[in-house]
Amino acid sequence: MSPEEFRQAGHQLIDWIADYRAGLAGGPVRSSVQPGDIAASFSVDPPTEPTTIEHLLDQLDKVVVPGMTQVQHPMHFGWFPSNASLASVLGDIASSGLGGLGISWESCPPLTEVEEVVCDWMRTLTGLSSAWRGTIHDTASSACLVALLSARERATGFAQSGGGLSSVAEPPVVYATAQAHSSVRKAALLGGYGADHVRIVASDPATYAMDPTNLVELMAIDAANGLRPAAVVATVGTTGTTAIDPLPEIVVAAAAHRAWVHVDAAMAGTAMLLPECRPLWNGVEGADSLCWNPHKWMGTILDTSLYYVRDVEHLVRVMSTNPSYLQSSADGQVTQYRDWGLPLGRRFRALKLWFHLQLDGVEAIQHRLRRDLRNAKWLAAQVEETPGWELMAPVPLQTVCVRHRPSAEVGDSVLDAHTIAWCDRINASGEAYLTRARLDSQQSTGQSNAGSWMVRVSVGVEATDHAHVARLWDLMRREAEGTSQ
Ligand SMILES: *Cc1c(COP(=O)(O)O)cnc(C)c1O
Repeated sequence: MSPEEFRQAGHQLIDWIADYRAGLAGGPVRSSVQPGDIAASFSVDPPTEPTTIEHLLDQLDKVVVPGMTQVQHPMHFGWFPSNASLASVLGDIASSGLGGLGISWESCPPLTEVEEVVCDWMRTLTGLSSAWRGTIHDTASSACLVALLSARERATGFAQSGGGLSSVAEPPVVYATAQAHSSVRKAALLGGYGADHVRIVASDPATYAMDPTNLVELMAIDAANGLRPAAVVATVGTTGTTAIDPLPEIVVAAAAHRAWVHVDAAMAGTAMLLPECRPLWNGVEGADSLCWNPHKWMGTILDTSLYYVRDVEHLVRVMSTNPSYLQSSADGQVTQYRDWGLPLGRRFRALKLWFHLQLDGVEAIQHRLRRDLRNAKWLAAQVEETPGWELMAPVPLQTVCVRHRPSAEVGDSVLDAHTIAWCDRINASGEAYLTRARLDSQQSTGQSNAGSWMVRVSVGVEATDHAHVARLWDLMRREAEGTSQ
């Protein structure tokens, strides 16, 4: 494709994207495709002749768009906001169009330096001290793996440079609550800790936040048994209920064992753009690493996950496989981001944030986040005021966890079936989309609460206004109470 052909096709594509976004609210939220439907619409034989952009856009219209669950739809309240601001889409296009290659500073100096600048802007915008230095990973899952590898090497005195974990006399242990994201356990297993060395710390039965007393107890027991407390993953804004683990106590407990503290704020990090929310992560300056995803609520398109550390030298020592590089890192001339994570080749991801911040503007983003917090509080208030409805967890941010009790004496299994049924009816209608989830908690008694079903309303799609949340509440009452609202 020549630049001139690209210009023509590109204009058509941009027009198509703008039309798609403008018309999104008119269609259903949930995809109604069955497994295999999409694949079956295409020929199994690879294309041999070139086709036209018109044909491809037609296929997007007929096959791809109807098959999508529309997470940019204003009535999408499922999982978490996965916003894809159009300003950041332009940054993504610019990044692709430049076609830079990030394998070293030399291979594309702006790719490295814009990333440094943007990570530092984001650090300032979230109120973090200048002790942190950041990079952009694809996802919080990768960032957590890097954090647990760093923790492992600190705890084992760099076992990787010798006999590895199998040579370690005191096996390292990782701590997190049952509310921690599944990526934490995955990172611990991939990092070689082993399932036997992943501890579930009790959480508070009312707030679902980590119980720091239990953390202290578990660490003491492990240390007494010849194990090495190596890492605590504290979640600021858990996936289920946006519970906030108490960082001040966790940091102190970890310090007693020189254990690493990784803060997983994948979802809630966005809230720290608002000064009034920052008390939620008080204590963060005592952590060793920290991750959050602008590609969630903030709305910089996937894949944009910020990872900050305080000890860059340690990070590079763990992640670099190029000993000669270590010397040039010490002289502080340039950053080699390949030594800050797993991949060698990197995209010019920073342009997504660079475009997003500058075209939308920080104030407009903050304004939208405050709107979402107000809408979530409004919905929580309706739930609290309405007989038969209950909140299942506190609402510190934009996620509202609810249940409806058809009658006071209803049993657990009937209640669960009712919850699943009304949520599924709303989702099947295409009018709105919600996530149902089980609230598991492991309490300090060691009892595991099997968890009852609830419905999570995650407010925060860029297009979602108060009217949409009010409309959702009507739908919830209609489907759960069986009345017409
Ligand atoms: C979404 C989420 C993750 C996973 O994020 P990815 O970027 O998809 O890997 C991890 N932790 C928390 C708390 C999350 O909300």
